[in-house]
Amino acid sequence: MSVAARPLFAFDSSYVRELGGLYEPWQAAPAPAPRLLALNEELATQLGVDADALRAPDGVAVLAGNATPDGASPVAQAYAGHQFGAFSPSLGDGRALLLGEVLDVRGRRRDLHLKGSGRTPFARGGDGKAAVGPMLREYAIGEAMHALGIPTSRALAVVATGDQVARETMLPGAVLTRVAASHLRVGTFQYAAAHADPTLVRRLADHAIARHHPQAVEAENPYLAFFEGVVDAQASLVARWMLVGFIHGVMNTDNMTISGETIDYGPCAFMDAFDPYTVFSSIDYGGRYAYGNQPHIAQWNLGWLAETLLPLFHVETETALAAAKDVLQAFPGRYHEYWGHGMRAKLGLADGQRDDGALIDDLLALLHAQRVDFTSCFRALSSWVLGDATRARSLFAEPAAFDAWSDRWRAQLSSEAHDPQAIAEAMDQVNPVYIPRNHQVEEALAAATAGDLGPFRRLLDVLVQPFDERPGLEAYAEPSPPSFGVYRTFCGT
Ligand code: AMP
Ligand code: MG
Repeated sequence: MSVAARPLFAFDSSYVRELGGLYEPWQAAPAPAPRLLALNEELATQLGVDADALRAPDGVAVLAGNATPDGASPVAQAYAGHQFGAFSPSLGDGRALLLGEVLDVRGRRRDLHLKGSGRTPFARGGDGKAAVGPMLREYAIGEAMHALGIPTSRALAVVATGDQVARETMLPGAVLTRVAASHLRVGTFQYAAAHADPTLVRRLADHAIARHHPQAVEAENPYLAFFEGVVDAQASLVARWMLVGFIHGVMNTDNMTISGETIDYGPCAFMDAFDPYTVFSSIDYGGRYAYGNQPHIAQWNLGWLAETLLPLFHVETETALAAAKDVLQAFPGRYHEYWGHGMRAKLGLADGQRDDGALIDDLLALLHAQRVDFTSCFRALSSWVLGDATRARSLFAEPAAFDAWSDRWRAQLSSEAHDPQAIAEAMDQVNPVYIPRNHQVEEALAAATAGDLGPFRRLLDVLVQPFDERPGLEAYAEPSPPSFGVYRTFCGT
């Protein structure tokens, strides 16, 4: 007697059901010779999916886009966006498909999405493809962010397609399966607002409220409360990026989520030496998306979200504008509160009423002036709490300035009179030892592209436990050596 195989996923696709006008039904291009390169078993478990079933040929066929899983209704999502400040009314998934939504084991709705799955009606001049290196990069950096406690989309799998992709050279092609709270972007609202159907923004906002800010329906003005929720989620998210030295690199409005998750790991990278002007993206000539500009850009992007929602805030434009402005202008304050809270934790300081602004700013100025590695310095401070200054001091070319700063810092710590051991342990839970170091990432991806996944797997093992210092992994804690040169990253890879 044969038993029908249980479907891999139990899809329930509210986006497709509720948001006609914001997608095109589409199918993935076939992958000639799919081969599973990486599978996220922990995430599979969270999704309630059997990892072995995903590894089996039928599972790999789904992850490669060769088979449409039962119950899925794949679509390319439509969105617009401000790219480097200029508005593009029609972007959309040019090389990606939303397979559908599933409820994870905790009942949370999650998008399942393929990236690199072939041209769609939104592909414009693009080939619809993605290469193995950049897809493994998205996998590794997303997992690192998740392990650092930062809201993010995550990769369930990367499958090599067996195809070649033409970039500067020919490269092996890949499809990444992305899992996210949703793929609703600021740019989705911009697309809805720019198109004819007057009900579209309202339907989209109602959908987004139900998915991400359900408490907003209780508010006197639900759409304004929703906007406030997005502003708050982004203030918190960008603060978390700043606290670990993460530079997104392409904060276009189409790459900014409504959920408050980090999305679209293209030209992103982590900063080594602290410098607010740090830029890695090869096309960011003006430093628009530099490390220190990220909070400002987030607020700028949220202004465009507000614009699409104005008619929902109030029938009178003046009243709607005033309300939107109030919420938007609260962004810097909210951001600063999240960031200050995080910085005090990094320094082991109590989160009280005291104003530690000068102490924090002075340390950052010192790191900048002496080009000190951001991650190493904060990690080294817990040793100093326990009495050993050498680890931190040795990072400064001119330690006298650090000594003067650390006298002030230690005076404040002792005035708060907590147990040094407890403070040091708490600091080590927020100051990572290991972040994705650019040279390590590039080495791992070059090896993977050449067929050796060993370095990628070792790197991933390190990155998923960023706070636990482990013997033998010293090299992963080091910034890139000067011989690595100026690091450049790329969009649309
Ligand atoms: P991104 O810079 O990855 O956020 O992409 C910006 C836009 O370009 C989105 O609409 C993408 O779908 C599209 N895009 C990027 N790369 C490709 C590609 N190789 N083929 C088709 N569309 C692409
Ligand atoms: Mg994008």
